Amino acid sequence: MKILVLNCGSSSIKYQVFDMDYEALLAKGLVERVGINGTFIKHQRGDQPKITRDIEAKDHKEGIQHVLEILTDADQGVFKNLDEIKAVGHRVVHGGEKFADSVLITHEVLEAVRECVKFAPLHNPPNLKGIEAIAAILPNVPQVAVFDTSFHQTMPPVAYIYGLPYKYYEQDRIRRYGFHGTSHRFVSHRAAQLLQKPYEKLKIITCHLGNGASVAAIKHGKSVDTSMGHTPLEGLVMGTRCGDIDPALVLHIMKKENLTIDEMDTLLNKKAGILGISQWSSDQRDLEDGYPEQNLKNNKPLANLALEIFAYRVRKYIGAYMAVLNGCDALVFTAGVGENSPIIRDLVCRDMDFLGVKLDPEKNKKTWRGAEGDISTADARVRTLVVPTNEELVIAEDTYAIVRKK
Ligand code: AMP
Repeated sequence: MKILVLNCGSSSIKYQVFDMDYEALLAKGLVERVGINGTFIKHQRGDQPKITRDIEAKDHKEGIQHVLEILTDADQGVFKNLDEIKAVGHRVVHGGEKFADSVLITHEVLEAVRECVKFAPLHNPPNLKGIEAIAAILPNVPQVAVFDTSFHQTMPPVAYIYGLPYKYYEQDRIRRYGFHGTSHRFVSHRAAQLLQKPYEKLKIITCHLGNGASVAAIKHGKSVDTSMGHTPLEGLVMGTRCGDIDPALVLHIMKKENLTIDEMDTLLNKKAGILGISQWSSDQRDLEDGYPEQNLKNNKPLANLALEIFAYRVRKYIGAYMAVLNGCDALVFTAGVGENSPIIRDLVCRDMDFLGVKLDPEKNKKTWRGAEGDISTADARVRTLVVPTNEELVIAEDTYAIVRKK
């Protein structure tokens, strides 16, 4: 069964096609600058070289039409015709409290996803546009929604209720939701497989460290806490997001600099984090290249500070979740930084032997670029693993499972 996976952002459409009979990735690509001048599609069929084509797409529907065109292209395509697409799986960022699992998209589900726009005003609208475009172009193809939030719906109230008047939860469902759920779910399952232990018996801390970053505490197969909250702004210091700060500072800075709500929102989400501290770049590769000596020689001490703050915050959450879980069996690193940065993994895990975490420096140094493995010493009580994430595969698997049952 061939399944198309779509991840629609505000001006981008990421896609992958899987043949789920073999769990094989057939093609993947990305449309960028949807609705802006200079739209292009990058496409890769199997292991063939990537190609880039300039296109015109004034909205997501036109962008998706280009995706379907290239997927049926005689040269670059993977389908003879569109009838071969048996289902479409969508990444949907926010499912609120309604969705603890992935679901077949019906009229009622669409309405519920629309209700969640208030929780994720930047993310859910483009996700909805992708669903509506497929419904218009391929009206008979079943669609499935896979939510970033659903894996964390098992969190208990002590973890998800804020210290605010309770009426905000009762009236508006203001609470912590957590994100990156598909990734935390995927890598924690994979960790159990690598350790050859039953998932339901393990306590795992997963660190999804990319441009957006979060840590999750997973007890016996269920997420019991995670660092992102009502929005993906809470928790770790990220590429451009501030993570946890004293909320009084929002008021203070707005007053002092006479900022509007939108300007403050941009400051917290796009100008803070690694970029804001380093005053240079949100890309950790830039900061790591000269860490630590060359950055000092280049008069960039704040690059070092930004990396160290990033790692320190991850470390603090690991410590907190060790307490929440009463110790853990495995610590998992994933996503762009987690998979590729021995420097960050070393900064995070250094001097944690009291908690049972001990990295083998050689294994740590050698594990990157899509490799998975155990990077801890033989005597470490906690196995520290690197596991490349694959959110698209999770979406395809959930879609396959739901559509097969139909
Ligand atoms: P993601 O959001 O998962 O795509 O991750 C993006 C982040 O991963 C960016 O900050 C990249 O700089 C970072 N990244 C990718 N490759 C490396 C690498 N080799 N070393 C350090 N950071 C990396």
